Amino acid sequence: MAPPSWPPLKMIIRYSLPALALLLAGCGPGTGRASRQDGAVDLGRLTQSDGQSRVEVGGRLDSAPDGASTVQRDSGSDQPADIGFGPDLAVDTKAAADLAADTGAGPDAAADLRLAADLAGDASADRDVTDAASTAMDAMVEGPEADASGDGGCALADNISVAKLPPISFAAYHSQQQIEDYLQAVAATFPAIATYKVNGKSVQSRYIPYLIINATCQASPPAIFANGTHHGDEPSSTESVLAIPDYLLRNSATDASLRSLLETYAFYVLPLVNPDGFALNTRENADGLDINRDYSYPLRSDAESFQTVEAQHMKSLQESVGFRAAIAYHSGAQEVLWPWCYTGDDTVDGEFFTAAGQKTAQAMNFAIYQQSYDDYPTQGEYIDFAYWKSNTLAATFEVSTDKTPSVASLASVVDSACKGTFAWIQAVSDRDHGSLHALSAAAAARRRFPLTAPFDGTNRLE
Ligand SMILES: [Zn+2]
Repeated sequence: MAPPSWPPLKMIIRYSLPALALLLAGCGPGTGRASRQDGAVDLGRLTQSDGQSRVEVGGRLDSAPDGASTVQRDSGSDQPADIGFGPDLAVDTKAAADLAADTGAGPDAAADLRLAADLAGDASADRDVTDAASTAMDAMVEGPEADASGDGGCALADNISVAKLPPISFAAYHSQQQIEDYLQAVAATFPAIATYKVNGKSVQSRYIPYLIINATCQASPPAIFANGTHHGDEPSSTESVLAIPDYLLRNSATDASLRSLLETYAFYVLPLVNPDGFALNTRENADGLDINRDYSYPLRSDAESFQTVEAQHMKSLQESVGFRAAIAYHSGAQEVLWPWCYTGDDTVDGEFFTAAGQKTAQAMNFAIYQQSYDDYPTQGEYIDFAYWKSNTLAATFEVSTDKTPSVASLASVVDSACKGTFAWIQAVSDRDHGSLHALSAAAAARRRFPLTAPFDGTNRLE
């Protein structure tokens, strides 16, 4: 796994060294008088590195028989840090609440801190301090944003200012440099939720940039992968992916459903799978190979596949993240397609794919949604690989009949593609109810990989 770099761990509240000293001072074992002895309450995890200390909300605070307490570190940490209850804890709790508010930690953090404050209040005469902490936490829990986002919400998305979104227009096509600049600008504007990365280089050493948007307050949330330009001569697919960050961040401010998706999934936005083909206006990569026929699928091994460096990079990213859902954008038709590409046999998820495809096509005002094989049979497409290897609920969007629609129509093409994107993701969310992406054992047992001979008829090229 290669989790997004932010947030590094769930709701980390940074403490300065003096704050840690305050937290620990006078709080040695036996100094506390906690009256609540009902086991454990989530408080936080203390860690220290590079002269900085942290409390990570979500650790366990266990009451000891003598009233002392222990903050246990999560697995992987070295040793517990001992603290006890007492007046200082109430002070620290208020400080923690203030810090949580400042850093945008979410309602879960506030709830954890409220429990800690209650415990501290029981042991402390300093009710004023405790009350202040509770008030601060109430504001965090009961703020309008938290209400609007529902149970799964966290405060990270609260800090997204639509007014600060870097401008982007689809009145013209973008160059590779403009694409890189834009993704970097989004990351620079919203560093708490957006990260710019490069997924290696092409044959001709062009960068393959991508953006991760993670406003979930989780280090490894279920993730969605939007990738464009497997085929370099399909630039409306590039633009459709490039439009996603602005569409998502702008509209989630007012659209509760979109906001919920933003707070549930990380979004990997990669507009240029094939930057050489994009530069050369060729379907294939610089070696003349079709990247979207180069993936493994149930009738062809990894060793027999992945001849292109670009597909190798895609494989690495796919395997490292294990996407819950993905959309590969193409152009040359108006269709929503799903696995399998290589056989007409249904997948075990055929019912879902059909329902999701129908909703997505409606959102895009497209008439055609079908299993990809029924469009035309192919071998070695990304979506078969992703679904086969990672159970990724993958789709192909053919976003426009013209591979290079006029600039006058480009904005409406990408708007339609964005609407379809989030219709697909909403269908995935509805199926998951926001849960993690592991396939259930029962569903996994029903998985089968039909070994019918691949159809090798004439392929159209979309
Ligand atoms: Zn294509």
